[in-house]
Amino acid sequence: LHGAYDPDNIFAKILRGEIPSVKVWEDDQVLAFMDVFPQSEGHVLIIPKQSQARTLLEIEPDVLSRLTAALQRTAKAVEKALKPDGISVMQFNGEAGGQTVFHLHFHIIPRWADRPMKG
Ligand code: 5GP
Repeated sequence: LHGAYDPDNIFAKILRGEIPSVKVWEDDQVLAFMDVFPQSEGHVLIIPKQSQARTLLEIEPDVLSRLTAALQRTAKAVEKALKPDGISVMQFNGEAGGQTVFHLHFHIIPRWADRPMKG
């Protein structure tokens, strides 16, 4: 949970265009893009563009509102496009909390009753 924001984390590089990504949706504050190691078909990540928050604990409330609005919009788009049976929204904070990339993000993971989630 603790530590400084690393401006060279993978998502910062994606935001700067130094690493390619498959964008799903964006506005001035939020980017939604495909997870490169998807846990299911249609696994999307949602990140703030300007904030240097590593975790949910640090994010500015107004940016969080924009993120959750984008989260809902993207979940609806995923539902429409892929017709999953369910959608898991996940978010991890700190290494011990399962976080591996230290730029705040939410996962949208479509789920199907007959398909277990990939490791
Ligand atoms: P965390 O465990 O931190 O919540 O999840 C980080 C996510 O970032 C993982 O699901 C991982 O697959 C994804 N990821 C890691 N590197 C890249 C990358 O270079 N591009 C994209 N699109 N996703 C990445």
